[in-house]
Amino acid sequence: MSKNKSSESVKVVVRCRPLNRKEESNGPAGSIVQMDLRLGQVILRNPRAPVSEPQKTFTFDAVYDANSKQGDLYDESVRPLIDSVLAGFNGTIFAYGQTGTGKTYTMQGAWMDPQKRGVIPNAFDHIFTHISRSQSDKQYLVRASYLEIYLEEVLDLLDPNHGNARPLELRESPESGVYVRDLTSCVCKSIKEIEEVMNVGNQARAVAATDMNEHSSRSHALFLITVECSQPGPDGRKHIRVGRLNLVDLAGSERQAKTGVQGERLKEAAKINLSLSALGNVISALADGRSGHVPYRDSKLTRLLQDSLGGNAKTVMVATLGPAPQHYDETLTTLRYANRAKNIQNQPRVNEDPKDALLREFQMEIARLRAQLHHRKWRTKQKKEQVDGEGWERDGDEETEGEEEDEEDEEEGVEKEAEEYVKQEQRLEREKQDIREDQFMLADEKQRLLGEKERMMGVLRKEQEATEQLTAKYKAMESKLLVGGKNIIDHTNEQQKMLEGKRHEIAEQTRSEREIQQQMLVRDEETVELRETFTSLQQEVEAKTKKLKKYLKLYAKLQCIKAEIQDVNDEHVRSRQELEQTQNELTRELKFKYLIIENFIPPEEKNKIMNRLTFDPEEDQWKFQPLVPAESKSSQMKKRPASAVGYKRPISQYARVAIAMGAHSRYRAENIMFLELDMTPPNSASLDRSAQSEQNQSQSLDNSPTKDRGVRKSRSWCQTPKSITSSSSNVSLAACHTATPMTAQ
Ligand code: ADP
Ligand code: MG
Repeated sequence: MSKNKSSESVKVVVRCRPLNRKEESNGPAGSIVQMDLRLGQVILRNPRAPVSEPQKTFTFDAVYDANSKQGDLYDESVRPLIDSVLAGFNGTIFAYGQTGTGKTYTMQGAWMDPQKRGVIPNAFDHIFTHISRSQSDKQYLVRASYLEIYLEEVLDLLDPNHGNARPLELRESPESGVYVRDLTSCVCKSIKEIEEVMNVGNQARAVAATDMNEHSSRSHALFLITVECSQPGPDGRKHIRVGRLNLVDLAGSERQAKTGVQGERLKEAAKINLSLSALGNVISALADGRSGHVPYRDSKLTRLLQDSLGGNAKTVMVATLGPAPQHYDETLTTLRYANRAKNIQNQPRVNEDPKDALLREFQMEIARLRAQLHHRKWRTKQKKEQVDGEGWERDGDEETEGEEEDEEDEEEGVEKEAEEYVKQEQRLEREKQDIREDQFMLADEKQRLLGEKERMMGVLRKEQEATEQLTAKYKAMESKLLVGGKNIIDHTNEQQKMLEGKRHEIAEQTRSEREIQQQMLVRDEETVELRETFTSLQQEVEAKTKKLKKYLKLYAKLQCIKAEIQDVNDEHVRSRQELEQTQNELTRELKFKYLIIENFIPPEEKNKIMNRLTFDPEEDQWKFQPLVPAESKSSQMKKRPASAVGYKRPISQYARVAIAMGAHSRYRAENIMFLELDMTPPNSASLDRSAQSEQNQSQSLDNSPTKDRGVRKSRSWCQTPKSITSSSSNVSLAACHTATPMTAQ
């Protein structure tokens, strides 16, 4: 992919976890991973190779060894990305690596221990601290969603019905790229609330883990945070920036052969491996830059990460490694993936004023509620003026505030309003008391006035209730928007701010130092050209020795590359074998399904079904077409055949010929056949003895008076009579006649 002005490459960092107790007890082999933190290099030793074989070296944006702290990784590699998200960019952090290498530890960590909190909780702190410290003219809306991809299905982890919920569909829009339809999204007003969202989702995953054994490592988890920020621009209008952050904890990239799974588990592993190999293919296609087609559609994971890989996003990939010798192959594969991902170019841009910003809707709703409150206040004032005829009991600058009342005064206004209601109620109560105590007033008049005051109090109470409801709604809505400058968190003192600033500076410095070191190393190797003239033999020898050393270095490099090519070939063979294994599994399953279809579904039904099936590439599924296309129901319906002109109903060719011949005109229009009686005697030669006796009976029946009339075989009304041989039905009919009385006896 060609670099352009706004493009930047995916940042790749590598983290190696410490040896665990089991690995330590396995023997003295020790770690196969060495790291040069200064240069950002990983040096991998092949435990099976002879010592003379050169070790493999990979260079990354940053590396973190077994002693690294969660805070180091966050401050140096994640903090700048979250800052970008807060400025309106899309950002993605994904952890990739073999199971048990520390993906979940890096992304989530141990929540309770501040030193061990992972990327996700640190990002929560970062986002809300930033909001609390920003200028007061900024308004924020923070939303969170949590989903997992299990067996190639997208499941909502925040859906209370998670276990039985239907998988969600992926959609694409030019505004927000690929998104998940109907995904639950929770508005979060504080760190506590967003942590609660995370816990709810994690519990949904944990439940699945006990049910389905190792589920957590068999699904990809995505935590999504959307930060919308509104700020007045130079044109005086409020502009909205939307930053979307994807925090991805991928399923383990273990090999099927290694896990030793079979059957259903193998299918699960096959799905994970297919989605991870789809991810690998996408990374290769993007890194290669030559192939125009990037196979995003090959898996749900790659579709969801479409913007993060080669699109509108800033991306950090954390590749996690285990240091144990028995995982050498996996570690090498992870490093190769990571190395390839470095070449991916993204085109991040600020998402300014998108149409689907929720913050805009919230602001409009709040403005509508505020207008309603103002209107209500004005009406109450009018009423009061009518009631006491002498206007408000003016206190302060109530009247002068008018429509321009500031947002900050809003709360004060609401309180004053409540006070006013109390005052009015008290005043009405006083007036009622006065009326009751008035000696000179007539009883009727007193009753009327008291009734009047009672009614007024009722109206006042109703108004008060409605205002309270509206105020509550307004407050609830407004509280969802976070305003900059307000203390959401209490640890915002200046010292801490400075400390963070310094830490940020140090991280920046380390990063640039590392970059310079890496550049120097490359230059050292490339630009040492011997251009001196040899003034003495000594100098010539020196120069040639230098050259020789350089060639030796190059030779060593060549050997390394050769070994690398061999490794890559081996790797390809291995992954091909795995794919073949998966293919065999699928073919076996396909054969099984074929067997069922071919033997148990009638061919015409099968054809009908197949003609109705169409493939929906959006959802990656086969679908049934409706039996009758919805839009052309009436026109597509088969019409009833029109009656033949001049006849009662359609008439067959045969009947038409018959009519032409002029035979039996009565039923000719109905296509009725005229049948003649068949006079041939029944043939009973082949019947056995019992049948013979029955025949005698039937013969005796034949002697009945009806014999002369006989029985005629049918004949069409213009056919020549056709003799029909033996009528066994007659015999069995007769048999029935005789059998019935016998059974009755
Ligand atoms: P994964 O999610 O990749 O399958 P986990 O994050 O669950 O792996 O890590 C497996 C184990 O290794 C956990 O017990 C975790 O605490 C430990 N671990 C991983 N990375 C580190 C690290 N950098 N430092 C200390 N312990 C770690
Ligand atoms: Mg994990």
